[in-house]
Amino acid sequence: MARQSPARPNSARELLFGDLWEFDPAPESAPAHIEPHYGLFINGRFVAAKSRRRIDSISPRNGAKLAEISEAKAADVDAAYQAAANAFKSWSKIPGRDRSKFLFRIARLLQDRAREFAVAETLDGGKPIRESRDFDLPMAAAHFFYHAGWADKLDHVVPGRRLAPLGVVGQVIPWNFPLLMLAWKIAPALATGNTVVIKPAETTSITALKFASILQDAGLPPGVVNIVTGGPETGALVVNHPLAAKIAFTGSTEVGKMIQHSLAGSGKKLSLELGGKAANIVFEDAPLDQAVEGVINGIFFNQGHVCCAGSRLLVQEGIATTFTARLKRRMATLRVGDPLDKNTDVGAINSLAQLKKIQELVQSGIDDGTVMHQHTCKLPKKGFYFPPTLFTGVSMSQRIASEEIFGPVLSILTFRTSEEAIEKANNTRFGLSAGVWTDKGSRILMMASRLKAGVVWANTYHQFDPASPFGGYKESGFGREGGKHGLIEYSQLV
Ligand code: NAD
Repeated sequence: MARQSPARPNSARELLFGDLWEFDPAPESAPAHIEPHYGLFINGRFVAAKSRRRIDSISPRNGAKLAEISEAKAADVDAAYQAAANAFKSWSKIPGRDRSKFLFRIARLLQDRAREFAVAETLDGGKPIRESRDFDLPMAAAHFFYHAGWADKLDHVVPGRRLAPLGVVGQVIPWNFPLLMLAWKIAPALATGNTVVIKPAETTSITALKFASILQDAGLPPGVVNIVTGGPETGALVVNHPLAAKIAFTGSTEVGKMIQHSLAGSGKKLSLELGGKAANIVFEDAPLDQAVEGVINGIFFNQGHVCCAGSRLLVQEGIATTFTARLKRRMATLRVGDPLDKNTDVGAINSLAQLKKIQELVQSGIDDGTVMHQHTCKLPKKGFYFPPTLFTGVSMSQRIASEEIFGPVLSILTFRTSEEAIEKANNTRFGLSAGVWTDKGSRILMMASRLKAGVVWANTYHQFDPASPFGGYKESGFGREGGKHGLIEYSQLV
């Protein structure tokens, strides 16, 4: 006779996968092929920086040095612009169908080396290999494919008008999606016949430098794309160079404002993709399981280092308690740790500086008297890590509800009516993105028309497509990337 199992308490133990079950390590093993030292990519080849200055590139996964990159100074940035200006003379004149072939080749080569690039991106930036493999690399290739399709159809973007190139474009990008931001910038610039000087972020330059070998293998003419590395000083040199016809910047609002000031009156075209503090709004009639997944993905994707992260959850009062309980339960199942492990959901924080910024803002939330709930996982001893965190009892005036944390931290607020949700969602200096979760189609349309955000997702979150323009309002910047709108940013209409 089977023995009766001991009586269980009413709250039966849940099947949680978090730290209760130890998973065997499943590290991605493909080699990343990272050089110990990189020069600057100017006029189709790697050259030493004239300054001979180097910066250590640290892997946030374990805090170890991954490589050395060069620091470009004025003479180097000038050499890059001269090469780009020279290349523009012929690149801007070759038929669109030929530019299209180069873009297509770049996309195919990225696909061929996707695994190697994904590992390099994860080692350099700390994002889980699952994301660099399944999101960053396929999306980067998709942007080149998409723009390959446009390069010979530029006469059809705006009826009755032709798109002509601007000249040399200076581009400065951030560290959260290093290769993808590069693709967002370079693909439309080349499709429209411009040449490029691009500067990746100082903490994540490796995939941009590896990308140079793809340009060489694709046979791209020398000087069409030049890659200079360095920190803010190099960025300022790229932005202020007199040969730049347009500047495209993605990064923080503070730096974006400085760039806008410095370019005022220069006649240079400018697009700014800056910070955000998106509201993810959940109504009582929403499909709740789906909404829980969307909120979790909205804030913990890429450790929350996402400009359009849903970092403010607005949940309707009647379901606030249940919904928060479900979120906590789902959060406990996230696997936090080594980003190179294929089971990891939340990887390393990109840099020590960013980790300190997150810690400081989280402390402000605690000091303000809000209630913090954190994942109880064991964090790796080496490297930069922060546990997924939620705050309840948050009010709009607190820093955690108004400042961009850019980390895995969610602030939960409540609302009663649609009007209150709209007012709270729009009560921010940013305007990049928002999410709405409801069963009612008419409510989705009403909310989308009244939320002041460049992108509004309905019953989903973080969906991207090269054909869909992306960009912000207010202090989230101006200009659009992707789609026809993105092509116009890199062109003059004639
Ligand atoms: P950041 O502004 O500190 O740096 C971005 C880039 O600008 C880096 O390459 C940096 O070296 C360079 N830079 C710094 N100071 C400069 C200066 N004075 N002149 C010229 N260049 C300078 O931002 P970050 O911390 O690297 O990135 C995070 C920020 O980027 C967040 O605010 C995030 O929201 C934003 N972001 C926005 C989007 C978007 O599409 N809206 C996308 C990704 C990231």
